[in-house]
Amino acid sequence: MEWTQIFFKGVDLSLAVEVVARTLIMFALILIVLRATGKRGVRQLSLFEVAIIIGLGSAAGDPMFNPDEPILPAIIVFIVICAFYRLMTWLASKSEKFEVLVEGKALYIIEDGMFDLVDQKELFFGKDEFLAEMRQQNVEHLGQIRTAVLETNGNVSFIFFDEKEVKKGLPIWPKVYEKKSKLIPAPGTYACTYCGNVEDITTSSHICRRCNCEEWVMALDTKRCS
Ligand SMILES: [Zn+2]
Repeated sequence: MEWTQIFFKGVDLSLAVEVVARTLIMFALILIVLRATGKRGVRQLSLFEVAIIIGLGSAAGDPMFNPDEPILPAIIVFIVICAFYRLMTWLASKSEKFEVLVEGKALYIIEDGMFDLVDQKELFFGKDEFLAEMRQQNVEHLGQIRTAVLETNGNVSFIFFDEKEVKKGLPIWPKVYEKKSKLIPAPGTYACTYCGNVEDITTSSHICRRCNCEEWVMALDTKRCS
């Protein structure tokens, strides 16, 4: 193995200059195409948009540094992807069903201070992510949240109960949440750790009326300070 082979393999100054020119051209083309999609900027991308970016990226890469690759095919790919994107977003604006097919749909995570059980079946990843998201919103327990929705771009949107409406709910901060147990130490108000349902429990063990889970943690009713 020769290090010079790995780094330089036949590269001379004129090739280096060509790579600079190719890179600038492709970069400008990428910008033009992204502007042409009509998007304002990106904070969070939907899966569909990620697919577009991957497509653009892989078409742009080779012509940047490979002198054997003409740039025209990449331009054709760009035009096709851009036209396809605009067609899809136009169709999505016309038909709600089509929009759900392409972008997915917003899912309810929390309703009325409890995890939504129906939509949860469609969630394929852990609750931990939402718990972290809620903690970042200064949420201490689920009883502070009226509604939380997982948007198609991965963001979570919240509506909070105002101070007077806050009810007892499932604590979501690790030190408290991890105290969950099947054994009820003393009579009191507990929250189901799976669904967030709150019940007054007087027995030493209890099965949740809402989801049949049997792990509980003492419910909180602290107000949310923002
Ligand atoms: Zn439950």
